[in-house]
Amino acid sequence: MSNLAQKGTLYIVATPIGNLSDISERAKGILSSVDLIAAEDTRHTKRLLQHLGINCRLLALHEHNEDEKSALVADRLAAGESVALVSDAGTPLISDPGFPLVRECHQRSIPVSPIPGSSALIAALSASGLATDEFHFIGFVPRKSNARREVFSEKATASGTWLFYESSHRIIESLRDLAAIIGDLRRVVLARELTKLHETIISAPLAELLDQVIADENQQKGEFVVIVEGAAQKEKSEDFSDVDRILRILMADLPLKQAASFTSEITGVKKNIVYQRGLALKG
Ligand code: SAM
Repeated sequence: MSNLAQKGTLYIVATPIGNLSDISERAKGILSSVDLIAAEDTRHTKRLLQHLGINCRLLALHEHNEDEKSALVADRLAAGESVALVSDAGTPLISDPGFPLVRECHQRSIPVSPIPGSSALIAALSASGLATDEFHFIGFVPRKSNARREVFSEKATASGTWLFYESSHRIIESLRDLAAIIGDLRRVVLARELTKLHETIISAPLAELLDQVIADENQQKGEFVVIVEGAAQKEKSEDFSDVDRILRILMADLPLKQAASFTSEITGVKKNIVYQRGLALKG
């Protein structure tokens, strides 16, 4: 594959997630030879291009205009122009804009070619020390605690490792919600500021991790990927038929929280697991 852009092709170009040296030779070749760069934030991308000594036409394509701009970009591609799609950091479309454009290109048989590179998701997973053979990526979890807990409940018994993105504003609240759903003992890895000066990767049982983050304000700053160990074999394979039977009876007369609490006492199964089953039964 050439390092120079071909006519009528859309390139999905990964850019660094912190360390500018992570830009690839191919990314530089493509960015300097396309007719147009569609960027999430043109000011941000201009700074990267200045650093690389590249001068190219830019068009803003972000979450608020991508439906409308995608058709326009696809028209230019169809007319023979070459276009690179970049986001502010990492791989476009991974919790970033670009999906409508790529879908439109496929619908119109316009070639789409990836220029792979950094992604916080894969960087974090690869260094997490947790199983990588099966993993689930949730993207950003909801901002509201109730909705967040629901998402965590859905994943709580998943066998593979799971990951989500979180901002510094909500990292503690999110970890607290996570503990309320999966308990204190599951191993969780917090990957912070990857590839940057203050990169830290903490791996610990959730309660310990939470204590460490609360005790050190520096650990609450920057960008985060949270990586959660998959459910243990025991949790997955346990026979829950008795739990479900008792839950059903109690839930007919009691609120879920109380029904889960009694069922947990009767069966000895952890309260958070019973609660999740109750949610599923309700659903
Ligand atoms: N497209 C990007 C990618 O491929 O990683 C992700 C974009 S998303 C809008 C930004 C989120 O990714 C941040 O809020 C953070 O959760 C995560 N992230 C990005 N850069 C990171 C870094 N250097 N260290 C840890 N997490 C990072």
